[in-house]
Amino acid sequence: TAQYDVVSIRNDFPILGKQIHGKPLVYLDNAASSQHPVQVIDAIKELYESGYSNIHRGVHQLSQDATKAYEDARASVRGFINADCMHEVLFTSGTTDAINLVAQSYARPLLQKGDEILITHMEHHSNIVPWQMVCEQTGAELKVVPISDKGELEMDRFAELLSERTKLVSVVHVSNALGSVNPIKTIIDAAHAKGVPVLVDGAQSVPHIPVDVQALDCDFYAFSGHKLYGPTGIGVLYGKEKLLNAMPPYRGGGDMILSVSFEGTTYNTLPYKFEAGTPNIAGAIGLGAAIEYVQKIGLSAIAAHEHGLLEYATMELKQIDGLRIIGEADQKAGLVSFVLDTVHPHDIGTMLDAEGVAIRTGHHCAQPVMERYKIPATARASFGMYNTFQEIDVLAKAIDKTIGMFA
Ligand code: PMP
Repeated sequence: TAQYDVVSIRNDFPILGKQIHGKPLVYLDNAASSQHPVQVIDAIKELYESGYSNIHRGVHQLSQDATKAYEDARASVRGFINADCMHEVLFTSGTTDAINLVAQSYARPLLQKGDEILITHMEHHSNIVPWQMVCEQTGAELKVVPISDKGELEMDRFAELLSERTKLVSVVHVSNALGSVNPIKTIIDAAHAKGVPVLVDGAQSVPHIPVDVQALDCDFYAFSGHKLYGPTGIGVLYGKEKLLNAMPPYRGGGDMILSVSFEGTTYNTLPYKFEAGTPNIAGAIGLGAAIEYVQKIGLSAIAAHEHGLLEYATMELKQIDGLRIIGEADQKAGLVSFVLDTVHPHDIGTMLDAEGVAIRTGHHCAQPVMERYKIPATARASFGMYNTFQEIDVLAKAIDKTIGMFA
Protein backbone atom coordinates (compact mmCIF):
# COMPACT_ATOMS: atom_id res chain seq x y z
CA THR A 1 0.00 0.00 0.00
CA ALA A 2 1.10 3.55 -0.74
CA GLN A 3 2.57 5.63 2.07
CA TYR A 4 0.02 8.00 3.64
CA ASP A 5 1.42 11.33 2.52
CA VAL A 6 0.15 13.73 5.18
CA VAL A 7 2.48 16.52 4.01
CA SER A 8 1.03 16.63 0.52
CA ILE A 9 -2.50 16.41 1.94
CA ARG A 10 -1.75 19.39 4.20
CA ASN A 11 -0.49 21.34 1.20
CA ASP A 12 -3.95 21.05 -0.33
CA PHE A 13 -5.51 22.90 2.63
CA PRO A 14 -4.54 26.59 2.43
CA ILE A 15 -5.80 27.46 5.92
CA LEU A 16 -3.45 24.96 7.57
CA GLY A 17 -0.54 27.28 6.75
CA LYS A 18 -2.03 30.02 8.90
CA GLN A 19 -0.47 31.37 12.09
CA ILE A 20 -2.67 31.96 15.15
CA HIS A 21 -1.28 34.33 17.81
CA GLY A 22 2.09 33.94 16.08
CA LYS A 23 2.02 30.12 16.37
CA PRO A 24 1.38 27.59 13.60
CA LEU A 25 -2.29 26.63 13.57
CA VAL A 26 -2.97 23.18 15.04
CA TYR A 27 -6.53 22.51 13.96
CA LEU A 28 -8.13 19.92 16.22
CA ASP A 29 -11.78 20.96 15.91
CA ASN A 30 -12.71 18.72 13.01
CA ALA A 31 -15.75 17.22 14.72
CA ALA A 32 -17.33 20.68 14.75
CA SER A 33 -16.32 21.44 11.17
CA SER A 34 -13.39 20.44 9.00
CA GLN A 35 -11.29 22.60 6.67
CA HIS A 36 -11.37 22.70 2.87
CA PRO A 37 -8.87 21.54 0.25
CA VAL A 38 -8.24 23.78 -2.78
CA GLN A 39 -10.11 21.22 -4.86
CA VAL A 40 -13.33 22.13 -3.02
CA ILE A 41 -12.62 25.87 -3.01
CA ASP A 42 -11.79 25.76 -6.74
CA ALA A 43 -14.95 23.83 -7.62
CA ILE A 44 -17.07 26.54 -5.97
CA LYS A 45 -14.98 29.34 -7.52
CA GLU A 46 -15.23 27.78 -10.94
CA LEU A 47 -19.00 27.45 -10.63
CA TYR A 48 -19.45 31.12 -9.78
CA GLU A 49 -16.88 32.30 -12.33
CA SER A 50 -17.99 30.30 -15.31
CA GLY A 51 -20.80 27.83 -14.78
CA TYR A 52 -23.42 29.33 -12.52
CA SER A 53 -27.15 29.53 -13.09
CA ASN A 54 -30.29 28.24 -11.45
CA ILE A 55 -30.83 24.58 -12.22
CA HIS A 56 -33.45 22.14 -13.54
CA ARG A 57 -35.72 24.55 -15.38
CA GLY A 58 -33.50 26.33 -17.85
CA VAL A 59 -33.06 25.55 -21.52
CA HIS A 60 -30.03 27.79 -21.75
CA GLN A 61 -26.51 26.40 -21.67
CA LEU A 62 -25.47 27.71 -18.24
CA SER A 63 -28.53 26.23 -16.59
CA GLN A 64 -27.86 22.90 -18.22
CA ASP A 65 -24.21 23.01 -17.11
CA ALA A 66 -25.15 23.88 -13.52
CA THR A 67 -27.84 21.18 -13.50
CA LYS A 68 -25.32 18.61 -14.69
CA ALA A 69 -22.79 19.66 -12.04
CA TYR A 70 -25.46 19.46 -9.31
CA GLU A 71 -26.64 16.02 -10.42
CA ASP A 72 -23.03 14.84 -10.82
CA ALA A 73 -22.57 15.76 -7.15
CA ARG A 74 -25.57 13.59 -6.30
CA ALA A 75 -23.94 10.76 -8.25
CA SER A 76 -20.75 11.24 -6.21
CA VAL A 77 -22.74 10.96 -2.97
CA ARG A 78 -24.52 7.85 -4.26
CA GLY A 79 -21.20 6.16 -4.98
CA PHE A 80 -19.67 7.33 -1.71
CA ILE A 81 -22.31 5.67 0.47
CA ASN A 82 -23.18 2.98 -2.09
CA ALA A 83 -26.86 3.89 -2.33
CA ASP A 84 -28.72 1.71 -4.80
CA CYS A 85 -29.87 4.63 -6.95
CA MET A 86 -29.54 8.40 -7.37
CA HIS A 87 -33.07 9.21 -6.26
CA GLU A 88 -32.46 7.73 -2.83
CA VAL A 89 -30.01 10.59 -2.24
CA LEU A 90 -31.70 13.80 -1.08
CA PHE A 91 -29.81 17.02 -0.62
CA THR A 92 -30.69 18.77 2.63
CA SER A 93 -29.11 21.69 4.45
CA GLY A 94 -27.37 19.31 6.86
CA THR A 95 -27.81 16.47 9.31
CA THR A 96 -30.22 18.50 11.43
CA ASP A 97 -32.43 19.23 8.43
CA ALA A 98 -32.32 15.58 7.34
CA ILE A 99 -33.42 14.29 10.75
CA ASN A 100 -36.22 16.87 10.95
CA LEU A 101 -37.37 15.73 7.51
CA VAL A 102 -37.69 12.13 8.69
CA ALA A 103 -39.35 13.19 11.96
CA GLN A 104 -42.00 15.29 10.22
CA SER A 105 -42.50 13.43 6.98
CA TYR A 106 -41.98 9.80 7.99
CA ALA A 107 -42.78 9.66 11.70
CA ARG A 108 -45.43 12.29 12.25
CA PRO A 109 -48.12 10.81 9.96
CA LEU A 110 -47.47 7.37 11.42
CA LEU A 111 -47.23 7.97 15.15
CA GLN A 112 -50.09 7.55 17.57
CA LYS A 113 -50.47 7.70 21.31
CA GLY A 114 -48.72 4.69 22.81
CA ASP A 115 -46.12 4.47 20.03
CA GLU A 116 -42.44 4.93 20.80
CA ILE A 117 -39.33 6.35 19.18
CA LEU A 118 -36.11 4.81 20.46
CA ILE A 119 -32.92 6.89 20.63
CA THR A 120 -29.83 6.73 22.86
CA HIS A 121 -28.31 8.74 25.68
CA MET A 122 -25.37 9.78 23.48
CA GLU A 123 -27.32 11.60 20.79
CA HIS A 124 -26.53 15.09 19.56
CA HIS A 125 -29.38 17.52 20.28
CA SER A 126 -30.31 17.31 16.60
CA ASN A 127 -31.21 13.65 17.11
CA ILE A 128 -33.19 14.40 20.27
CA VAL A 129 -35.21 17.58 19.80
CA PRO A 130 -36.90 16.68 16.47
CA TRP A 131 -38.20 13.50 18.17
CA GLN A 132 -39.37 15.41 21.24
CA MET A 133 -41.25 17.74 18.90
CA VAL A 134 -42.91 14.93 16.97
CA CYS A 135 -43.78 13.15 20.22
CA GLU A 136 -45.46 16.31 21.45
CA GLN A 137 -47.36 16.56 18.17
CA THR A 138 -48.57 12.95 18.21
CA GLY A 139 -48.65 11.75 21.81
CA ALA A 140 -45.91 9.21 21.13
CA GLU A 141 -43.17 8.62 23.69
CA LEU A 142 -39.39 8.95 23.48
CA LYS A 143 -37.34 6.06 24.91
CA VAL A 144 -33.63 6.29 25.57
CA VAL A 145 -30.98 3.55 25.55
CA PRO A 146 -28.53 4.20 28.42
CA ILE A 147 -24.74 4.30 28.11
CA SER A 148 -22.12 2.66 30.29
CA ASP A 149 -19.36 4.42 32.22
CA LYS A 150 -17.01 3.56 29.36
CA GLY A 151 -19.26 5.33 26.88
CA GLU A 152 -20.77 2.31 25.16
CA LEU A 153 -24.45 1.65 24.52
CA GLU A 154 -26.01 -0.80 26.96
CA MET A 155 -27.08 -3.30 24.34
CA ASP A 156 -29.07 -5.50 26.71
CA ARG A 157 -31.15 -2.45 27.59
CA PHE A 158 -31.53 -1.70 23.89
CA ALA A 159 -32.93 -5.20 23.37
CA GLU A 160 -35.40 -4.67 26.22
CA LEU A 161 -36.50 -1.23 25.04
CA LEU A 162 -37.08 -2.38 21.45
CA SER A 163 -40.71 -3.49 21.42
CA GLU A 164 -43.85 -3.72 19.33
CA ARG A 165 -44.50 -0.12 20.37
CA THR A 166 -41.25 1.07 18.75
CA LYS A 167 -41.95 2.75 15.43
CA LEU A 168 -38.43 3.97 14.66
CA VAL A 169 -34.92 3.64 16.06
CA SER A 170 -32.71 6.69 15.55
CA VAL A 171 -29.10 6.27 16.60
CA VAL A 172 -25.80 8.02 16.15
CA HIS A 173 -23.08 6.06 14.33
CA VAL A 174 -20.14 7.89 15.95
CA SER A 175 -20.69 10.04 19.05
CA ASN A 176 -19.44 13.61 18.67
CA ALA A 177 -19.03 13.95 22.45
CA LEU A 178 -17.36 10.61 23.29
CA GLY A 179 -15.99 9.29 20.01
CA SER A 180 -17.72 5.92 20.54
CA VAL A 181 -18.43 3.95 17.37
CA ASN A 182 -21.77 2.25 17.91
CA PRO A 183 -22.56 -1.30 16.72
CA ILE A 184 -25.13 -0.03 14.24
CA LYS A 185 -25.23 -3.18 12.13
CA THR A 186 -26.28 -5.15 15.21
CA ILE A 187 -28.83 -2.46 16.07
CA ILE A 188 -30.24 -2.40 12.54
CA ASP A 189 -30.53 -6.19 12.37
CA ALA A 190 -32.24 -6.38 15.77
CA ALA A 191 -34.68 -3.60 14.85
CA HIS A 192 -35.47 -5.16 11.48
CA ALA A 193 -36.17 -8.49 13.15
CA LYS A 194 -39.06 -6.64 14.83
CA GLY A 195 -40.03 -4.75 11.66
CA VAL A 196 -38.69 -1.43 12.97
CA PRO A 197 -36.86 0.93 10.58
CA VAL A 198 -33.60 2.63 11.62
CA LEU A 199 -32.23 6.11 11.00
CA VAL A 200 -28.49 6.49 11.44
CA ASP A 201 -26.99 9.89 12.31
CA GLY A 202 -23.79 9.71 10.31
CA ALA A 203 -22.55 13.27 10.88
CA GLN A 204 -19.39 12.02 12.62
CA SER A 205 -18.92 8.76 10.73
CA VAL A 206 -18.72 9.57 7.02
CA PRO A 207 -15.46 11.56 7.39
CA HIS A 208 -13.78 8.74 9.31
CA ILE A 209 -15.04 5.29 8.36
CA PRO A 210 -16.25 3.75 5.10
CA VAL A 211 -20.06 3.62 5.01
CA ASP A 212 -22.10 1.33 2.77
CA VAL A 213 -25.81 1.93 3.29
CA GLN A 214 -26.78 -1.24 1.43
CA ALA A 215 -24.46 -3.43 3.49
CA LEU A 216 -25.77 -1.78 6.67
CA ASP A 217 -29.33 -2.07 5.36
CA CYS A 218 -30.23 1.14 7.25
CA ASP A 219 -33.48 2.80 6.26
CA PHE A 220 -32.25 6.38 6.57
CA TYR A 221 -28.72 7.78 6.85
CA ALA A 222 -28.03 11.46 7.50
CA PHE A 223 -24.82 13.50 7.27
CA SER A 224 -23.44 17.02 6.76
CA GLY A 225 -21.04 18.34 4.13
CA HIS A 226 -19.09 20.61 6.45
CA LYS A 227 -17.61 17.80 8.55
CA LEU A 228 -16.50 16.04 5.38
CA TYR A 229 -14.18 18.79 4.08
CA GLY A 230 -17.12 20.29 2.16
CA PRO A 231 -19.17 23.47 2.52
CA THR A 232 -21.70 24.41 5.20
CA GLY A 233 -25.42 24.48 4.45
CA ILE A 234 -25.39 21.21 2.53
CA GLY A 235 -26.09 17.72 3.77
CA VAL A 236 -27.59 14.44 2.72
CA LEU A 237 -30.47 12.26 3.65
CA TYR A 238 -30.25 8.77 2.22
CA GLY A 239 -33.55 6.92 2.38
CA LYS A 240 -34.80 3.64 0.99
CA GLU A 241 -36.88 4.28 -2.11
CA LYS A 242 -39.90 2.43 -0.76
CA LEU A 243 -40.04 4.58 2.37
CA LEU A 244 -39.33 7.88 0.60
CA ASN A 245 -42.00 7.20 -2.01
CA ALA A 246 -44.63 6.65 0.67
CA MET A 247 -43.70 9.82 2.58
CA PRO A 248 -45.46 13.15 1.98
CA PRO A 249 -43.27 16.12 1.03
CA TYR A 250 -41.62 17.94 3.91
CA ARG A 251 -41.77 21.41 2.40
CA GLY A 252 -43.88 22.82 -0.39
CA GLY A 253 -42.72 25.10 -3.16
CA GLY A 254 -41.04 25.19 -6.53
CA ASP A 255 -39.27 22.17 -8.01
CA MET A 256 -41.05 19.66 -5.76
CA ILE A 257 -44.21 19.63 -7.92
CA LEU A 258 -45.27 18.23 -11.28
CA SER A 259 -48.21 20.58 -11.64
CA VAL A 260 -49.91 23.15 -9.48
CA SER A 261 -53.45 24.41 -9.71
CA PHE A 262 -55.87 25.75 -7.14
CA GLU A 263 -57.84 22.50 -7.48
CA GLY A 264 -54.82 20.51 -6.40
CA THR A 265 -51.14 19.92 -6.83
CA THR A 266 -49.30 16.80 -7.90
CA TYR A 267 -45.88 16.16 -6.45
CA ASN A 268 -42.67 15.53 -8.31
CA THR A 269 -40.87 12.20 -8.24
CA LEU A 270 -37.88 11.40 -6.03
CA PRO A 271 -35.59 13.05 -5.14
CA TYR A 272 -37.17 16.37 -6.22
CA LYS A 273 -40.29 15.82 -4.10
CA PHE A 274 -38.07 16.59 -1.10
CA GLU A 275 -36.02 19.42 -2.61
CA ALA A 276 -38.43 22.36 -2.62
CA GLY A 277 -37.11 25.70 -3.81
CA THR A 278 -33.74 26.63 -5.26
CA PRO A 279 -31.30 24.31 -3.54
CA ASN A 280 -27.77 24.99 -2.30
CA ILE A 281 -26.26 24.50 -5.76
CA ALA A 282 -22.73 25.59 -4.87
CA GLY A 283 -22.89 23.61 -1.63
CA ALA A 284 -23.80 20.40 -3.42
CA ILE A 285 -21.07 20.91 -6.01
CA GLY A 286 -18.55 21.66 -3.25
CA LEU A 287 -19.63 18.51 -1.42
CA GLY A 288 -19.19 16.51 -4.61
CA ALA A 289 -15.64 17.83 -4.90
CA ALA A 290 -14.97 17.01 -1.23
CA ILE A 291 -16.15 13.45 -1.72
CA GLU A 292 -13.94 13.04 -4.78
CA TYR A 293 -11.01 14.32 -2.73
CA VAL A 294 -11.70 11.95 0.16
CA GLN A 295 -12.12 9.03 -2.23
CA LYS A 296 -8.84 9.79 -3.95
CA ILE A 297 -7.02 9.42 -0.63
CA GLY A 298 -9.29 6.58 0.42
CA LEU A 299 -11.35 6.28 3.58
CA SER A 300 -9.52 3.16 4.73
CA ALA A 301 -6.21 5.02 4.58
CA ILE A 302 -7.75 8.02 6.36
CA ALA A 303 -9.29 5.76 9.01
CA ALA A 304 -5.96 4.02 9.62
CA HIS A 305 -4.10 7.33 9.92
CA GLU A 306 -6.66 8.81 12.30
CA HIS A 307 -6.69 5.65 14.37
CA GLY A 308 -2.95 6.04 14.81
CA LEU A 309 -3.49 9.64 15.91
CA LEU A 310 -6.18 8.54 18.35
CA GLU A 311 -3.98 5.88 19.94
CA TYR A 312 -1.06 8.25 20.19
CA ALA A 313 -3.15 11.09 21.65
CA THR A 314 -4.81 8.74 24.14
CA MET A 315 -1.41 7.50 25.29
CA GLU A 316 0.06 11.02 25.55
CA LEU A 317 -2.93 12.52 27.34
CA LYS A 318 -3.18 9.64 29.80
CA GLN A 319 0.31 10.48 31.01
CA ILE A 320 -0.86 13.92 32.12
CA ASP A 321 -1.60 14.07 35.86
CA GLY A 322 -5.10 15.33 36.64
CA LEU A 323 -6.42 14.67 33.14
CA ARG A 324 -9.39 12.36 32.72
CA ILE A 325 -10.58 11.10 29.35
CA ILE A 326 -14.38 11.00 29.01
CA GLY A 327 -15.43 8.13 26.78
CA GLU A 328 -13.21 5.07 26.52
CA ALA A 329 -15.26 2.82 24.29
CA ASP A 330 -13.43 -0.15 22.76
CA GLN A 331 -14.44 1.13 19.33
CA LYS A 332 -13.62 4.80 18.94
CA ALA A 333 -13.16 7.24 16.08
CA GLY A 334 -10.61 10.05 16.11
CA LEU A 335 -11.53 12.31 18.97
CA VAL A 336 -10.60 12.66 22.62
CA SER A 337 -12.90 14.37 25.12
CA PHE A 338 -11.25 15.20 28.44
CA VAL A 339 -11.49 17.20 31.63
CA LEU A 340 -8.80 18.48 33.98
CA ASP A 341 -9.05 18.42 37.77
CA THR A 342 -7.87 21.97 38.15
CA VAL A 343 -8.90 23.88 35.01
CA HIS A 344 -12.39 24.53 33.63
CA PRO A 345 -12.81 23.35 30.01
CA HIS A 346 -13.46 26.89 28.83
CA ASP A 347 -10.12 28.02 30.26
CA ILE A 348 -8.39 25.05 28.65
CA GLY A 349 -9.79 26.19 25.30
CA THR A 350 -8.57 29.75 25.80
CA MET A 351 -5.11 28.66 26.95
CA LEU A 352 -4.72 26.26 24.04
CA ASP A 353 -5.83 28.93 21.59
CA ALA A 354 -2.94 31.09 22.77
CA GLU A 355 -0.67 28.23 21.64
CA GLY A 356 -2.34 28.08 18.22
CA VAL A 357 -4.26 24.93 19.13
CA ALA A 358 -7.95 24.97 18.13
CA ILE A 359 -10.12 22.59 20.13
CA ARG A 360 -13.77 22.77 21.18
CA THR A 361 -14.98 23.14 24.73
CA GLY A 362 -18.51 22.91 26.05
CA HIS A 363 -21.32 20.39 26.03
CA HIS A 364 -20.94 19.69 22.27
CA CYS A 365 -24.72 19.86 21.77
CA ALA A 366 -24.96 16.68 23.83
CA GLN A 367 -26.07 17.92 27.24
CA PRO A 368 -27.47 14.51 28.29
CA VAL A 369 -23.96 13.07 27.87
CA MET A 370 -22.56 15.74 30.20
CA GLU A 371 -25.34 15.02 32.71
CA ARG A 372 -24.56 11.28 32.44
CA TYR A 373 -20.94 11.85 33.50
CA LYS A 374 -21.83 14.66 35.93
CA ILE A 375 -19.61 17.23 34.26
CA PRO A 376 -20.60 20.63 32.86
CA ALA A 377 -18.46 20.38 29.76
CA THR A 378 -15.42 18.74 28.22
CA ALA A 379 -12.47 19.85 26.15
CA ARG A 380 -12.47 17.94 22.87
CA ALA A 381 -9.64 17.42 20.42
CA SER A 382 -10.92 15.89 17.19
CA PHE A 383 -8.76 14.73 14.32
CA GLY A 384 -8.96 14.96 10.57
CA MET A 385 -7.06 13.41 7.70
CA TYR A 386 -4.45 16.19 7.75
CA ASN A 387 -3.46 16.08 11.42
CA THR A 388 -0.01 14.89 12.41
CA PHE A 389 1.62 13.14 15.36
CA GLN A 390 3.69 16.24 15.92
CA GLU A 391 0.49 18.25 16.36
CA ILE A 392 -0.54 15.84 19.13
CA ASP A 393 2.77 16.63 20.84
CA VAL A 394 1.94 20.34 20.60
CA LEU A 395 -1.49 19.63 22.11
CA ALA A 396 -0.04 17.64 25.01
CA LYS A 397 2.59 20.31 25.72
CA ALA A 398 -0.05 23.05 25.64
CA ILE A 399 -2.18 21.11 28.14
CA ASP A 400 0.86 20.66 30.41
CA LYS A 401 1.55 24.38 30.21
CA THR A 402 -2.10 25.15 31.01
CA ILE A 403 -2.01 22.96 34.11
CA GLY A 404 1.19 24.69 35.19
CA MET A 405 -0.37 28.15 34.81
CA PHE A 406 -3.38 27.17 36.94
CA ALA A 407 -1.38 25.33 39.62
N1 PMP B 1 -25.17 14.73 14.82
C1 PMP B 1 -23.90 14.70 15.25
C2 PMP B 1 -23.36 13.44 15.86
C3 PMP B 1 -23.10 15.84 15.13
O1 PMP B 1 -21.85 15.81 15.55
C4 PMP B 1 -23.65 17.00 14.54
C5 PMP B 1 -22.83 18.27 14.40
N2 PMP B 1 -22.09 18.63 15.54
C6 PMP B 1 -24.97 16.97 14.10
C7 PMP B 1 -25.69 15.82 14.25
C8 PMP B 1 -25.64 18.16 13.49
O2 PMP B 1 -25.05 18.48 12.26
P1 PMP B 1 -25.40 19.86 11.55
O3 PMP B 1 -25.19 20.93 12.58
O4 PMP B 1 -24.41 19.94 10.44
O5 PMP B 1 -26.80 19.78 11.08
